[in-house]
Amino acid sequence: MTPKEQTYTGLGVSPGIGIGVVHERESGAIDVPEYSIPVKGVDTELERLHAAVTGARRQIGRLRAKAKSLPGLAAGEMEILLDAYIQMLKDSRLIRGAENRIASERINAEAAVHAELTEISGAFSNMDDAYLAARLDDIREVAARLIRNLVKKPSLSTHRAPKGSVIVAEELTPADTAQLDPARVVGFATALGGAEGHTAIMARALGLPAVLGAAELLQGASSGDRIIVDGDSGRIVINPKPATIAAYERRQKEIHQESKRFNTMRNQPSITRDGIPVGLQANMELPVQLGPISQVGASGIGLLRSEFMFMNRPDIPSEDEQYEILRTIVKGMDGQPVTIRTLDIGGDKIAASLLDRFGDSVSSALGLRGIRLSLAHVEVFETQLRAILRASAAGPVRILLPMITTASEIRKARDIVKQMARNLKRRKIAMAPELPPIGVMIEVPGAALSADALAQDADFFAIGSNDLTMYTLAIDRSDEQVASLYNPLHPSVLRLIQFSAEAALRARIPVSICGEMAGDPRFTALLLGLGLRELSMTAAAIPRVKQRIRDLDLLAAEARARVIMDQVDVGRIHMLVDDFNALA
Ligand code: PEP
Ligand code: MG
Repeated sequence: MTPKEQTYTGLGVSPGIGIGVVHERESGAIDVPEYSIPVKGVDTELERLHAAVTGARRQIGRLRAKAKSLPGLAAGEMEILLDAYIQMLKDSRLIRGAENRIASERINAEAAVHAELTEISGAFSNMDDAYLAARLDDIREVAARLIRNLVKKPSLSTHRAPKGSVIVAEELTPADTAQLDPARVVGFATALGGAEGHTAIMARALGLPAVLGAAELLQGASSGDRIIVDGDSGRIVINPKPATIAAYERRQKEIHQESKRFNTMRNQPSITRDGIPVGLQANMELPVQLGPISQVGASGIGLLRSEFMFMNRPDIPSEDEQYEILRTIVKGMDGQPVTIRTLDIGGDKIAASLLDRFGDSVSSALGLRGIRLSLAHVEVFETQLRAILRASAAGPVRILLPMITTASEIRKARDIVKQMARNLKRRKIAMAPELPPIGVMIEVPGAALSADALAQDADFFAIGSNDLTMYTLAIDRSDEQVASLYNPLHPSVLRLIQFSAEAALRARIPVSICGEMAGDPRFTALLLGLGLRELSMTAAAIPRVKQRIRDLDLLAAEARARVIMDQVDVGRIHMLVDDFNALA
């Protein structure tokens, strides 16, 4: 019997249509590391186990909240299942057994969970009872989740995804997503994740159609099923009928034709109808993006998220490794400026090596994130700065500091840059004759509100509207449950952007915007109207934004921005933005 076509919806976060075969991320076996621990390491190991348990409870809690919105009986069934998992994480033989093994056998937490699971499975295996077999599956599921949380890296199964796969997973971290190979994977869909987190940003960077936050998907899709992911509408179709596949294939062709049309814009100047030039730069996460960035004719890299160099590896990259990567990028940009943001680990961007070394605060959105980590553990910062300074010998480079809140952070960072430059000079190591300009991200509300003070110490501003929106509205960028509240058009966010841009203009320092709103043509007129003349975005967005710039009249955009900035109602702001776009 042909399986029934099923449609699910989530957040379409990366445009395009992926047609392929489901590859479940969690389906692969996880390598369980096993090692002995000293007596004095027992407490630390127990803490690791308990952190993994807390993490698992949080993950299941999020799934449970999403399950409520499932249709009909599915909601109840899913809730019962997830409640059983939560119960098991509170108190069960699995957890107690693992704790005992850590203390008595002095083994690591992953090995202890695995050993306990093996023993429980052995005890169950002789009983021919369907109920108990189902319970054993639950225990396996919880144990696998704990081990995944402890190992803190994805199972290797996405590497082994066959060509034409669509990855289906409960959640993909930005680091997981960075490992997807667009030559093999044609898209992905997850149960958890918001539209503004770095997983979504990475999907757009790799050009992979993606839908996040579709909770019911996990019950409906199995490895080997045919699947369509529509990253524009947020729809996912499992076991599509031939007619559905044909319709989506037609849409795929149209998208292809459209992007070919846009590519012809590469050599057209980026100027408004009334002759004002606007710089269009690219955001970059991985060196593989160099090709697409040069294809769209970006006028430089406005944001290089250097933290991706630190992910998916057990150690911190050495100065030479960082230098080689940066030099390739700077040379590849052929004289166009490259804005290298120093390490911004934190929030949803995790690097195992830094977490292990510096603790959990590193992964908190309000913790030791960005410049705070760099100044607290200066050796990592110094190594990175030396690599950047060396890369400056290959072409124009700018240094961008993330998560700045005070001028003293800029001054401290500048002193360290100077110190590193002296260090390299002494050793006669090549770098640009002038120190690179040192700019700051304006992405914390406190920084935006004191932008005029920060402008005294910064050489340029890059407005990070993603975090500025998240921190201003207190909405987690990567939590699908509050995704509908995330809104960069909220008057508070617009006022902070305007204030920061005006502070930079008054201090006569360059200012750009590099959050996701810069790459959305719906917002182009408003951003120009607020005084911005440099936009940095994912490469694929450049042609459409350029088209919008060429269609608009700056004087009219400024007038509309003034009207918008007088509004306090978000709905009215949306209406005024849409209405202006429709006029052009
Ligand atoms: C931002 O916060 O807007 C930004 C560009 O930085 P990231 O998305 O990497 O946090
Ligand atoms: Mg940011």
